[in-house]
Amino acid sequence: MKIQNSHIGVLAVQGAFIEHEHMLQSLGVETFEIRQKKDLNQPMDGLILPGGESTVMGKLLWELGMMDTIREKIESGLPVFGTCAGLILLAEKIADEETSHIATMPVKVRRNAYGRQLGSFHGEADMKGIGCIPMTFIRAPYIESCENGVEVLAEVDGRIVAARYKNQLGIAFHPEVTKDTRVHEYFLKMVRKIQQKDLLNQESA
Ligand code: GLN
Repeated sequence: MKIQNSHIGVLAVQGAFIEHEHMLQSLGVETFEIRQKKDLNQPMDGLILPGGESTVMGKLLWELGMMDTIREKIESGLPVFGTCAGLILLAEKIADEETSHIATMPVKVRRNAYGRQLGSFHGEADMKGIGCIPMTFIRAPYIESCENGVEVLAEVDGRIVAARYKNQLGIAFHPEVTKDTRVHEYFLKMVRKIQQKDLLNQESA
């Protein structure tokens, strides 16, 4: 069984995508930017949805004709990692808003959830499977509720800030702006496990 090197797509229509690319490249992982629909045709082992402004990114995904393809890819098992606005894009429900975006992760998020004064702050907390990590929050959301099957990975002050649902990892903070690569490594492990499972399924088919 041969597992290929991971080739990770980073949504690059708006927001903090460069930081993710640099972090992945520092881990020796190949990345490519997704700016237009045709970029989604490249072989992709995982997808990163960066922080930024979820309303702008959501609108651009529709305008650029990428929304349905991205949703289908995630629904058929593509590993995806959303940070901050990226988590909001993944959430099935957004508190006090009528619409959602990609909506593949069965969680409800609350945007700009820490108020204006505390818009940005830095802390440290445990993340399941990793240990204590630095967490930088920038006008961050939190996960207000999750449905069955969602695994809570981290909480800060009783609020969920990281969770996983099958092939989807959503976190409210920004590991790409710190020097700590462990959350990205956690995602890469998810990618490899899913690749491994796919290969085994192909071999036994
Ligand atoms: N406040 C932004 C939003 O609602 C998210 C902020 C971020 O990604 N740093 O989309």
